[in-house]
Amino acid sequence: RWKKSFPGRPQRRMLLLVNPCSGTGRAIARCRQIVLPILEEAGIEYELKVTERQNHAWEMVQSLRLEEWDGLVIVSGDGLLYEVINGLMARSDWEQAIKIPLGIVPAGSGNALAGAVNHYTGHKRVMGDNLLTHLAFLLCKGACRPLDLVSVTTSLGRRLFSFLCIAWGFVSDVDIESERFRLLGGARFTLGTLARIASLRTYRGRLSYLPTSIPGDRAAAMAAGRNFIRSATLCGQSDGPKLAGRRAAMHRNMSDGALVEEMGLAGKWESTDDWDGSPPQEGYSSSCQSPDSETPPFSGIWQLGETVQSPDPVINRTFMTSNGGELGGKADGPGLVYGPPDDLLPFLDEPIPQHWRQEENDYVLVLAIYQSHLAADLLFSPLALPDDGIIHLWLVRAGISRRALLRFFMALARGRNLNVDSPHVVHITARAFRLEPLQPGGIITVDGEQVEYGPLQAQIHPHLARLIVG
Ligand code: ADP
Ligand code: MG
Repeated sequence: RWKKSFPGRPQRRMLLLVNPCSGTGRAIARCRQIVLPILEEAGIEYELKVTERQNHAWEMVQSLRLEEWDGLVIVSGDGLLYEVINGLMARSDWEQAIKIPLGIVPAGSGNALAGAVNHYTGHKRVMGDNLLTHLAFLLCKGACRPLDLVSVTTSLGRRLFSFLCIAWGFVSDVDIESERFRLLGGARFTLGTLARIASLRTYRGRLSYLPTSIPGDRAAAMAAGRNFIRSATLCGQSDGPKLAGRRAAMHRNMSDGALVEEMGLAGKWESTDDWDGSPPQEGYSSSCQSPDSETPPFSGIWQLGETVQSPDPVINRTFMTSNGGELGGKADGPGLVYGPPDDLLPFLDEPIPQHWRQEENDYVLVLAIYQSHLAADLLFSPLALPDDGIIHLWLVRAGISRRALLRFFMALARGRNLNVDSPHVVHITARAFRLEPLQPGGIITVDGEQVEYGPLQAQIHPHLARLIVG
């Protein structure tokens, strides 16, 4: 932990979070040798904190005093930023917290966002220490640009916030399978790609999406008239390592027109009722009371037949109200959260709206990406901007030859994949989508981190965060 301050001068202050294990493990050294001297030269005050374990950054941002910092800078790969964004979104004051300017200095093995920022500034493609130096320079310039976030709902009902991509098939396989070659840095992806082309496999799945070209989808969803909430998910952990016992989050999948706000509750939760695990009966109602006296009781008005479900191993239970009964917390109490409602999405177990499109296919890969780069040297979606409100869906359908696939990846490396003229390669722009794997066994990643395998859906929330782009 290092600090540098310039007493008496009004300065910008940046908090740097460094992951000593990212990339080839040289983040701290690179930070000291390259980043800190640049910040000092620019007269920027900083404090540097080294993460000690996975989820440490998530925990640190819970107690972060927003007013003390002009920027939160991740010196790592994309994984640490993903953790930080989800940490900020788990705060009771997420709406302000997520507006803290976020910076990235590439010290990981993926570094997609750093490559993208470099690209957005119009700078020529650079790699390694040159990229790192450029990004440190952009921090000093300090201008921000809005950053879209994508809200992801997984099969377990978890809600995640993603800034980069959701991948299934080829891309996620390479990402996760090449973890053991970490010491190679970015070269691990090249090696993984070649290995995967050699042993090519396909996945059957169904993809549904809301194309951006159809206007008025929000109005249509409202006209469909589902104005009640049917399911909700307690997605916090009462004392699991991730949430450090401090927060239970209430997240509901809501349809348009839902009357009740998203809610979450701080505190270590215990249920005060004596539910025995049997299916809820007519007339059942439930409430939760935190043993932590600072937290208000969990109560509120719910609609008939609502289900409140928790995948959390500690809380692990389902509640159902059947009498418009009480469950929830005062919406204005402390610690009530959780991100903007997903107004474009039905529930994950419900049919897609009629104006969505759908296809069922065998895929080599399905990639939803909302930045230009998938790695510092992989310009996957040349048209993507951080604040265009668009999810770029890239599909590579089965039937593509190994040669064509190799050509596709070589074009990618040069950012020319839009020119690839193959009936098997498809580019779609959407605002929301649902992905349903139709065969068992596979890897899905969100921002390069593996999540539970199964159906998931996502929608974009334009301009939710802010990104330092210089
Ligand atoms: P890379 O691009 O090299 O994968 P990331 O930034 O994606 O780098 O980080 C990879 C993972 O390392 C993240 O999931 C993060 O939570 C985890 N992590 C952060 N700090 C530590 C640490 N001190 N020890 C081990 N893992 C850590
Ligand atoms: Mg990573």
